[in-house]
Amino acid sequence: MDDSQEKIYRCKLCDSLFKDSDMSEEHYPARSTGNEDIVALDIIKMFETMQSEKVYSEIEKRLNAGEKSEDIAGNISDSQLTTSLYPKGRTARTLCRKCNTFLGKYDKAYLRFFDLDGNPKAIKGFQRQTKYQVIKAIYAKFLSLPETQNEKFDFVDFIRDENETSYNGKWKLYFVKRDKRSDLMGIQTSHLKQMSQRKSSI
Ligand SMILES: [Zn+2]
Repeated sequence: MDDSQEKIYRCKLCDSLFKDSDMSEEHYPARSTGNEDIVALDIIKMFETMQSEKVYSEIEKRLNAGEKSEDIAGNISDSQLTTSLYPKGRTARTLCRKCNTFLGKYDKAYLRFFDLDGNPKAIKGFQRQTKYQVIKAIYAKFLSLPETQNEKFDFVDFIRDENETSYNGKWKLYFVKRDKRSDLMGIQTSHLKQMSQRKSSI
């Protein structure tokens, strides 16, 4: 294949055109933050499974054998409810190599945030610049989402300028603390417990 037939992409950060070979294969979210083997949870199947007698008796048996309900829930969802969608993690070709390298700096800061589990006390101690890098790393990931392909984001300049500290656009970030109520697996686990209690009271 000669060069003229090679697919041309527009980098979402610098807005220039590149040949396929000059584009990068970036991970969203970063591979280091758990984006390695993404699975799709089949939610309808999940509720069907929770009502199935067969699964019910399997859970019952395993609970009686002393297995923890959390372990059973995790195992059942892994083996029966999920399909491996992206065995190599989710990747996209939306950035040129140069921009991807540039964003790597932000990803490093984000990794520190991720490793500390977003602990507000620890994050408070971050340098101001690092905090901006974390924020920019998160914004930057939106550029690589297939769902945002036709979106013209107003934060591109904010990300591209390392020293920029103000952004007054329409996109805002919210952080949600994960707990049993916000976590799907948590719902499943508590549902399981409920079921086993119900069963034993009959
Ligand atoms: Zn670029």
